[in-house]
Amino acid sequence: MESWQELLRKKSIASLEALAARFGPEHVGDIARLRQAAENFEFRISPAMVDLIKSPGDPIWRQYVPTVQELEIHDGIVDSLDEDANSPVPNITHRYPDRALFLVSPVCASYCRFCTRRRKVGDPEKIPMAQLESAFRYLEEHKEIRDVIMSGGDPLLLSDRRIDDICRRLRAIPHLEVLRIGSRVPCHLPERITPDLCAILKKYHPLYINTHFNHPDELTPAAVKALGMLADAGIPLGCQTVLLKGVNDDVEVMKELMQKLLVARVRPYYIYMCDQVAGAEHFRTAVEKGLEIIKGLRGWTSGLAVPHFVIDAPGGGGKIPLLPEYVVKLTDKEVVLRNYAGKVYRYKQGAKDAPEPVLVG
Ligand SMILES: *Cc1c(COP(=O)(O)O)cnc(C)c1O
Repeated sequence: MESWQELLRKKSIASLEALAARFGPEHVGDIARLRQAAENFEFRISPAMVDLIKSPGDPIWRQYVPTVQELEIHDGIVDSLDEDANSPVPNITHRYPDRALFLVSPVCASYCRFCTRRRKVGDPEKIPMAQLESAFRYLEEHKEIRDVIMSGGDPLLLSDRRIDDICRRLRAIPHLEVLRIGSRVPCHLPERITPDLCAILKKYHPLYINTHFNHPDELTPAAVKALGMLADAGIPLGCQTVLLKGVNDDVEVMKELMQKLLVARVRPYYIYMCDQVAGAEHFRTAVEKGLEIIKGLRGWTSGLAVPHFVIDAPGGGGKIPLLPEYVVKLTDKEVVLRNYAGKVYRYKQGAKDAPEPVLVG
């Protein structure tokens, strides 16, 4: 049987010419102009995603095919989350008190055009794998870090041996209580989730994986099987979805996605507003769209299927949650609330804590 590496190498679409040959040049457009977009940021569509495209311009196509809009930069920011400013050593972003982001892989199976890290993903010089030593040392020295998030690029595109080595090294650091992996491989390259990989990962519990699905069609039988294998290895699975214009900016589409994730044993974790990234601005919706989606989920389907809706604040502010307005009024006596269906309810306030006595002198 073909290995996942061969499959990715031989059956992906990685050039505009190959895309035109497969779907028809009239759907691809002006290759000479698009080449600039494909040079600015890596282009590859993995085999599972190529197979999922029903017609050019559909929600799967939009996520991976370069457009000339990528070249029209308005208010986008190259490093919109200030990750590099919060980076004490190469490959580490340490922004929150007790957890750190650790970039362990420069490559992805498919390259999402809306990538937040499009400034460096796909470029091994910008996510240098030869310098992981300083990152490990930083994590060892910073005892306040109890949760490390491996990301990239996609960590699960590393070889089994490399993944084993990195996890073993992290597990040897006593204060790292929790390991996390962020990966779109269960969606992009489900063939990569092998019994061998699962056997390696399960040695390093507590290990969490946050995956990334954006459209209900992405939960193919192969993806669901891969997720099931990870869940059977005891790995709690979450999903980080990005709200994208023309892909999933619709209550019914999002509801179906969240419900299908739950059936596939994945607990939806975040819906992100699309970051204000230079080259990805045409994917951004109004914030109200995200609030409308949360309003359309909460109460209308399983609470387990309702993620947090967040904006990762430009300039490195971190993830900030947004909620539709359920509190109509809050006084010392009562809170007036609106439920999911719009009906109004009152809840009598409990007693406030007595103020702390002030010590004088
Ligand atoms: C998202 C993120 C985290 C993890 O945040 P959680 O809310 O704990 O999932 C950690 N560090 C950075 C830099 C991040 O962007």
